[in-house]
Amino acid sequence: MKTPHTVQESRDAIAAWEPHIHAFLETFEAPEVLEGVLAGKPIAIKDNIVTKFGHTSAASKMLENFQSPYNAAVVEKLIDAGAAIVGKANLDEFAMGSSTEYSAFGVTKNPWDISRVSGGSSGGSAAAVASGEVWGAIGTETGGSVRHPASLCGVVGVKPTYGRVSRHGLISYGSSLDQAGPMARTVKDAALLLEIIAGNDPYDATSSQEPVGMYVHACDKDITGMKIGVPEEFFGVGIHPEVEKLVRAAVESLKDQGAIITPISLSLTSAAIPVYYLIAKAEASTNLSRYDGLRYGDMDVHDVSLLEHYIHARGKGFGPEVKRAILMGTYALSAGYVDAWYKQASKVRTLIRREYEEAFKAVDVIAGPVTPEPAFPIGSKMSDPLQMYLADALTVPANLAGVPALSVPCGFTSENLPVGLQVIASHFQEEKMFSAAAAYEKQHDWHTRFPELP
Ligand code: GLN
Repeated sequence: MKTPHTVQESRDAIAAWEPHIHAFLETFEAPEVLEGVLAGKPIAIKDNIVTKFGHTSAASKMLENFQSPYNAAVVEKLIDAGAAIVGKANLDEFAMGSSTEYSAFGVTKNPWDISRVSGGSSGGSAAAVASGEVWGAIGTETGGSVRHPASLCGVVGVKPTYGRVSRHGLISYGSSLDQAGPMARTVKDAALLLEIIAGNDPYDATSSQEPVGMYVHACDKDITGMKIGVPEEFFGVGIHPEVEKLVRAAVESLKDQGAIITPISLSLTSAAIPVYYLIAKAEASTNLSRYDGLRYGDMDVHDVSLLEHYIHARGKGFGPEVKRAILMGTYALSAGYVDAWYKQASKVRTLIRREYEEAFKAVDVIAGPVTPEPAFPIGSKMSDPLQMYLADALTVPANLAGVPALSVPCGFTSENLPVGLQVIASHFQEEKMFSAAAAYEKQHDWHTRFPELP
């Protein structure tokens, strides 16, 4: 297997891999494109990003068969650059989850070991890149959903600064956190994709006016003298010993290239999970109220009151994790509880953001693990939602702070499971993050390894 550069190569790989991994909810007979920067490179789009071709379901029964009248901004930009959109990638329903097991249309398996999860929520996008079904993919993050599956599947995954990429056409989960990001086999390919999709968009008021950086160029920059902070809290309780070993070795390798490594403290790391889940679920509960069963969802119910209609449509249309989000979020926002939960979480979020701003006064980038453990067995966390949430402990801080972060492969465990190195930069400092990750990648050959067809 190798990285596909044409629609035909992608089609062959999809035919070989899909029966084993189920990375796609839908594939297209995309025409070969010869022009543009991407000149026909096959790309997968996470299915919570709308396309006017095919369907957009966000892996939810609620939106089964939904067809969007327009393309998301990122999709328009990719098509303009000559991308061949070959399919819509699987995800956890409405991007809620960390394993793609919450998809209403079946789990995406990890190409490195099909008894394990691909991570989430952009598991389909990650597995499609890892297996060589596509050259690149677009995922989305609210809390780690690009970096988490990228790490578990052994590909590069980037979460840009909040506001760097337009959210127009991205199905909302937590609007103060949502951001689309690229996935690819190499740091430079991911940098190129970000250069294409980034930029201000009048259709998204939160998209930034800040000029787009030269991300591809940044990949060839020397990192001598770059200051890299390593937060000790990222190696706390629950860290898998092999993950710790590989990530510490990766940091050593950056040091060998002239980077200056300093231990730092991010004391609020352990607060990130409760703060993130309160804020994300609160925002989700309001965003999901639009799925009222009148415009979308199962309308096959007659002679009932409006309330009964809602109960029927939402009861049938939403899966367990989405229902949990609505319950948790509605509770955190309800009168009498909003001060104790949502407002309190928002205050701690500000403290987390400040802690990152302080840290970046002393260092250029922060490096550490992406996930506490490698890909876990399918089914192993489904009975305990809290265990699933803990998979996000090291990814959600960057979302809360709004800063850019990526995952780059840094080796394999003794069970041949990929592990990612996380590189985090300050707001709109994506270039530094790409320089560090690309410098690391140049010294290793992890990105040249492909999983074997089961
Ligand atoms: N596990 C996270 C959640 O369910 C993933 C969110 C995301 O980044 N889409 O909230």
